[in-house]
Amino acid sequence: MIKVEIDEGSGFCFGVVTAINKAEEELAKDGTLYCLGDIVHNSREVERLKEMGLITINHDEFNHLHDVKVLLRAHGEPPETYDIARRNNIEIIDATCPVVLRLQKKIKQEYTQESNEDKQIVIYGKNGHAEVLGLVGQTTGKAIVIEKLEEAKKLDFSKSIRLYSQTTKSLEEFQKIVEYIKEHISPNVTFEYYDTICRQVANRIPNIRKFAASHDLIFFVSGKKSSNGKILFHECQSVNPNSHFIDSAEEIDNNLLMGAASIGICGATSTPKWLMEEIFKAIKSRL
Ligand code: SF4
Repeated sequence: MIKVEIDEGSGFCFGVVTAINKAEEELAKDGTLYCLGDIVHNSREVERLKEMGLITINHDEFNHLHDVKVLLRAHGEPPETYDIARRNNIEIIDATCPVVLRLQKKIKQEYTQESNEDKQIVIYGKNGHAEVLGLVGQTTGKAIVIEKLEEAKKLDFSKSIRLYSQTTKSLEEFQKIVEYIKEHISPNVTFEYYDTICRQVANRIPNIRKFAASHDLIFFVSGKKSSNGKILFHECQSVNPNSHFIDSAEEIDNNLLMGAASIGICGATSTPKWLMEEIFKAIKSRL
């Protein structure tokens, strides 16, 4: 008998659950709601909410809207978005995750605080990612974004540094960047760093590694755009090379199912539980 199991620890984080609940509440009242960007990096969940009346728009479309309700997703937005909403009489349903909101405030405080020091505000994150744009926006675009340790080398070590992290980045890489800066910063300036990585993500790494290592075959379910999905999949692969990234049951290769005594299904913080259950049923029906 082949064992098939869904990882209990996979699925939406509380930030995403809250955003989706808010969207569903509004849709139940009004039937239509705009959402700035994909509510979650999972096309299947976006599709489900679209059928309920959620209309996903980009920033260009947002600029031209007036007198409507727009939901801001968990990633958060830069101050400019709120300014546009005020000008265009847009009611904001703010689903920015409290963890992201706290980080935005911290960065803004650092940036606006009076100081004699010439500081570089550095964000370890993915260039162009919605959350990072929201963070950089707190510094009127002045913050420096570094994506990996390699890029920390371009910093000016004769100036003070304040280092923050996008909530979904790797804790390990963050620590390497901290060590590198400590080693290279001039003794005449200051370096402060804030580990702002969300534990909803960081804590999943040891758990998912354990889960992936305990099965012969892993199907990692996630939208291809999810950065958290990429990180967690990489972790699965590092302990179990027989791990496969899929975003729907159609992508399951039947040949893989042969010879596996135990199959694990897991996913990202943006993967809905119902989708993992769908994959579970699809696998069961093919065994
Ligand atoms: S991963 Fe963490 S910070 Fe990001 S939305 Fe989820 S709970 Fe919030």
